[in-house]
Amino acid sequence: MQRKSKAKDRDALYPKKPSGKLYTRRIWVSYALLLLLFACPFVKLNGEQLVLLNFLERKFVFFGLLFTPQDFYLFALAMLIFAIFIVCFTVVLGRLWCGWACPQTIFMEMVFRRIEYWIEGDANKQKKLNAQNWNGEKFFKKGLKHIIFLLISFCIANTFLAYIISSDLLFTIITEPIKQHLSGFISICLFTIIFYLVFAYVREVVCTVICPYGRLQGVLLDNQSLVVAYDFSRGEPRGRLQKDSFITNKGDCVDCSLCVQVCPTGIDIRKGTQAECINCTACIDACDEVMIKIGRPQRLIGFYNQEFVQDRKPYKIGLKSYGYAAVLFLVMIVFSSLIYKREDVQTTVLRASGTLFQVRKNKETSNLYNAEMINKTNREMKFLFRSKDRDDKIEFIQAAEVLPKEGSAQVTFFLIRKNETIKEYKTDAVFEVWVDGKVISEASTSFFAQPE
Ligand code: SF4
Ligand code: SF4
Repeated sequence: MQRKSKAKDRDALYPKKPSGKLYTRRIWVSYALLLLLFACPFVKLNGEQLVLLNFLERKFVFFGLLFTPQDFYLFALAMLIFAIFIVCFTVVLGRLWCGWACPQTIFMEMVFRRIEYWIEGDANKQKKLNAQNWNGEKFFKKGLKHIIFLLISFCIANTFLAYIISSDLLFTIITEPIKQHLSGFISICLFTIIFYLVFAYVREVVCTVICPYGRLQGVLLDNQSLVVAYDFSRGEPRGRLQKDSFITNKGDCVDCSLCVQVCPTGIDIRKGTQAECINCTACIDACDEVMIKIGRPQRLIGFYNQEFVQDRKPYKIGLKSYGYAAVLFLVMIVFSSLIYKREDVQTTVLRASGTLFQVRKNKETSNLYNAEMINKTNREMKFLFRSKDRDDKIEFIQAAEVLPKEGSAQVTFFLIRKNETIKEYKTDAVFEVWVDGKVISEASTSFFAQPE
């Protein structure tokens, strides 16, 4: 068992180095995800990094799709879709996300833990090293480990900030004198320390105590969710392997405790599904190796739903999952239609306050308006602002021709109509914004006049 004493409970967890088919697959999945994680803020598409989550300026980018502060509702909807997807995924596949795709687990188990195994050796050697007095070997191993941990934490902190403040700004902070970007420099140091403390000391407590998703498992999982589970009806009564084990009706579990020794959260899966289990599948690999050695079928520990383990009922997706999937589908349709209708330029036209209409010479009437065009793209645009009704005239008081990238332009103008065309007190006025010979945005408001 990995734990030594209550007082030293936190720093006494020494999971044995896992191995096996699932672990090898996890390594490849993790490396692919790490590549994606480190590439997204630094690779550019259409002049924007692949993913940007700038909460401070409410600017978000997802693979070429730019969301400005005006699109915050779309971002909120995208987050809702992500949350429903995670719920749906969890109801069907349990905590698979935690063990196989969560950045915390990937960094902890596939980066920091592997470095620890490489420098300090497997669980027993780590225990021995920690117990021994400080000598040259211990100083060297501990020093090397913590220097590498700090360097990796520094890389993670920079990548994290590149997601939040953009890789361009991060590059500026790094390349220019520190005193010009003191807050940026402090942020890099602070996040480096936070990541270092998390991966060097806090470790699995993030998953077992801090993470709110982990705490939600009890609510989300049901008897049909697939989770890493011990097939107790096959494994019990457990007992050390003896020559006459078949005669004494022992179960398949030989009580070797390997499944407990490899567990990164220090639990015994044979006690049933537990909130601390992150579905990393290390215990499946460990037990499979034992089953192969003793000539029993594999998957004494495997991906099972409770109904199968308890009543041997075959796996089927539950009604709850279909319900969540239907909600997810509906929200995705709404989101797609909003994205489809979304304009590159958002135009708002408001009547100038304090004015209703002006009767002019030449039998004309005018209304005064303010208009604002917001450019939601990362390219500058030359634009033309005009009325949809070609009989209308526009007289600018404040004109503009250029929309800066991710910026806005304001115009103030009179819309002038001939009195002979005015049949009602209140009529519609529709305006168009033209860029490169195409209408890219429209806005409508009301026009007031005294009919003849
Ligand atoms: S690894 Fe398998 S056989 Fe060994 S204790 Fe765990 S469940 Fe039993
Ligand atoms: S019980 Fe098994 S799957 Fe769950 S965290 Fe421990 S090793 Fe991973």
